[in-house]
Formats: sequence, C-alpha cells, structure tokens
Amino acid sequence: MFEDIKWILDNIFGINGDKFVIRKNVSKENIETCNGIAVDDDTTNTCALCVALNDTVFKNNNKPEYYHRNCKCQNTKYELTTVKLDFPISKITKYLFQDKSKKELMKNMGYDISDADFIYKIIADNAKDKFLKGDYLLGVLNCNGQKVNIILELYGKKDKKNKLYRFKTGWTAYPNGCLHNNTPFGGWVKEQK
Ligand SMILES: [Zn+2]
Repeated sequence: MFEDIKWILDNIFGINGDKFVIRKNVSKENIETCNGIAVDDDTTNTCALCVALNDTVFKNNNKPEYYHRNCKCQNTKYELTTVKLDFPISKITKYLFQDKSKKELMKNMGYDISDADFIYKIIADNAKDKFLKGDYLLGVLNCNGQKVNIILELYGKKDKKNKLYRFKTGWTAYPNGCLHNNTPFGGWVKEQK
C-alpha cells in the first residue's frame, strides 16, 4: 500500500509539469524487442503491460497511468527533441490509396494516388509536431502497446479545397519517443472543437 502511494506521489510531484519523461523498469524487453506484441518477462518478473510501456516517452501530464502493486516502473526526465516515426510509405501507397473504402474516402476529399507523397509528408510532419507539443490523445493500452491518436486537420483538394477535414491518425508508442504507425486514417473526429 505505501509503495503504491509513494509511486503515485513520485509521479505527481517528483517531476514537474509538461516535461517529457521516460518510463523504465528492470526488463530488457520493450514493445519493439517484442515485435509489437508484449509478453510477461519472467526473468525480471515484469508484466506484459509494463514491458509494453518500457522505455516509452510521454509528457508527464499526458502519460499512461498504468501501475500496480510492486510495479518497478519509474519515470525520469527525458530530453525529446525529435520524434522518430516508424511509418513506411507503403501505409499510404499500399493501404490508404489501395484499400477500397479508404481509397474512396480519399477520393471524396479530392485526393488520389498522385498525392501520396504529399499526404505522407503532412501526416508525418503533423504527428511529429503535435507529439512534441503534447497534443496527442492516449488510446488503449494492451499487449500491442500504448495507442496514441493524433488529429490531422487537412483541407481537401480540387472541388473540396475549401473544406477542412479532421481525422485521427493512429500510432503505438515505441521506445525513446518513436511512433509506430498503425493507420494513417483512424476515423473522423466528431466535431467538438
Ligand atoms: Zn507491471
């Protein structure tokens, strides 16, 4: 019980405000070494979810608050200056502009395959910029890692060039501030801003 309280207090008062922190435990494994599917690390008695969060970097005021009795995870300050992306162009060329429903969706916004490089760059730049500012939404945490949603505001093209679209791009937090792309289009943002 006292250990639980100490853990909570350390994380509220130990590190100030909206700085980046890295979460570490004693395991040598993380979501990347597990190839995207975290499992219990029996050699260090670390549970799968703590393995999934090991070495991940978040703003201290916008980080996963998963912890448990005897949790050995600790957050320490981390200097994050650039966000690395694990985001192959094929997510755009072989999925966004090829999957039947996604392709249709892009077409409705006025975009086609000839815009692939532009769409790739705008999704990538937006994700890097917004993550650095802490402008991201935490999604579910499971053995596939901590999901992170980043909203993209994008004007359409051709007859839709004056229309602003807002949709989520879906990522998983990988070690040391790297974002692994799950989907370039993770659904529309319901108007609420
Ligand atoms: Zn754990």
